[in-house]
Amino acid sequence: MTSVERVQAAIELRPPDRVPVDLHNFQPAAYATGLPLGEVFQDGGLLAEAMLKAWREFGHDMILLENGTACNAQACGMEVIYRDQAAPATGKPLLRSLEDVAALEVPDPFTTFPMCEILKATRILSQEVGDRVWICARADQGPMDLAAQLRGMSELMMDIALGEQEELIHALLDYARRVATRYAYALIECGGHSTSIGEAEASPDLISPQHYRRYPWVHEKKMAAELKGQGIILHNHICGNTGAITEDFVATGAPVLEVDHKTEPSKIKEAARHKSCLLGNIDTRLLSLGTPAEIDDACRELVRVWKPDSGFILGPGCAMGAETPAENIHALVEAARKYGVYTS
Ligand SMILES: [Zn+2]
Repeated sequence: MTSVERVQAAIELRPPDRVPVDLHNFQPAAYATGLPLGEVFQDGGLLAEAMLKAWREFGHDMILLENGTACNAQACGMEVIYRDQAAPATGKPLLRSLEDVAALEVPDPFTTFPMCEILKATRILSQEVGDRVWICARADQGPMDLAAQLRGMSELMMDIALGEQEELIHALLDYARRVATRYAYALIECGGHSTSIGEAEASPDLISPQHYRRYPWVHEKKMAAELKGQGIILHNHICGNTGAITEDFVATGAPVLEVDHKTEPSKIKEAARHKSCLLGNIDTRLLSLGTPAEIDDACRELVRVWKPDSGFILGPGCAMGAETPAENIHALVEAARKYGVYTS
């Protein structure tokens, strides 16, 4: 099987020849160029080159393409600070009140920075390796993450806690969903095999399961359904421990769930079996600070739990740190080959 066929089988819950492996490695890939990270993250050509160089070194099956968690926010008009040694960060919130969302327009990804640069990177990756390697071109951020950036995290938390403007909160989440959806269509048009939303702010580490269900879940589900109707595969990425929202996470209907390391693997496997493909969930701290032998152990144990019945892509639980050692990344990729073979 090619990597594309292997990943496709896993997502369609059919047994591949072996467990495919992804790397959430935009930071180490950019770091390896020796250039300031902020320079790579603003230039689609440099970003594509960095991701290709990493793929040639590690030979993973799926490339996760993104430039951090501020792309959509910047396209919507927010100030973003690009740093030399870290992912970009958003500046002060754009919305002074929830009513202000009515004045926002959904950006055109083909003409709006930095989305247009990520589209350029997607095109390059697609031309160079798209027939062999699965490209997940990420439409970061998801409805809740973008809403939290536009409104301000603590302001949105307060809006949700007060619960007095439920319709306006949904209007903001709906706007954020439309931004990510339009971007997702463009990424697929440029050659992405699938797309993904990051929903760190929807994590039970930050909001209650009840609030997750009432707010972000509705919009994640709507986005997954719309894209599915167009034959587009969406990954839903929720950081932290999603144990308290296991059933709802699966019920978003996203064909791929990106699961973080804090989430206990057997419970989500049980809920997702025959329904969604799980991607993850090796601890990024272990990948940064552990030894290859420790990473091999962690992967072997995860393969034991998640490999049965397919629907599993081995990878980090979240974005890998810039200085993750190459030997640890090799250990992760190698573990899929060592332990992930399907015999029937
Ligand atoms: Zn994450």
